[in-house]
Amino acid sequence: MNRTLGTSDKKGLPHRSPFFFLHDDFLLINIPIQMLLIYYKLTAKPDMEMKMSEIKYKRPSWDEYFMETANAISKRATCDRGRSGCVIARDRQILVTGYVGSPRGLPHCDDIGHQMKKMTHEDGSTTQHCVRTVHAEQNAICQAARLGISIDGATLYCRMTPCRTCAMLIINCGIIRVVCESKYHAGEESEKMFKKAGIILEYVDEKILEYDNQ
Ligand SMILES: [Zn+2]
Ligand SMILES: [Zn+2]
Repeated sequence: MNRTLGTSDKKGLPHRSPFFFLHDDFLLINIPIQMLLIYYKLTAKPDMEMKMSEIKYKRPSWDEYFMETANAISKRATCDRGRSGCVIARDRQILVTGYVGSPRGLPHCDDIGHQMKKMTHEDGSTTQHCVRTVHAEQNAICQAARLGISIDGATLYCRMTPCRTCAMLIINCGIIRVVCESKYHAGEESEKMFKKAGIILEYVDEKILEYDNQ
């Protein structure tokens, strides 16, 4: 094999490129591979190609699209008791978003720990809540206020049944539909308020979301 690829030097002697081994070896390997690929392409059975096209891509619904977005946004949350995200959308467009986090400039739960408060209910039962954070729904509403975006007539997507405070804000913001990924263990009061206020409440999954120390 002639391995004198490349230019000649000043004396007219053939110059041997330091890369000629690579070049030759590449050709030696590559040509048979290319021929093999052409052979398979020519002899491929049409039914194999048919099967590939039969696997139809399923586009997410609009609710799935916004819920997936809310879940992506939740990754920015700073309290591990509920890394929630929220999307408020209208006419198939996202208006504002929010996630769980401390008020601007204040330390986050992930950095200094939770700020727990125990709540005693009328029936004597107690629940524990971290009160350090602004909830995802509240932050989305705050974003609308900061940017001057009306959320009247919109749909809100969130991780679980909004708490009592969020529910009251949602009602007064003019949101007409709430879609939750799952149920909040203490969400009954919000459910009743939404019903009275005429707000549509839907769950992707009816199961109650569980977490530590609830
Ligand atoms: Zn916390
Ligand atoms: Zn809330």
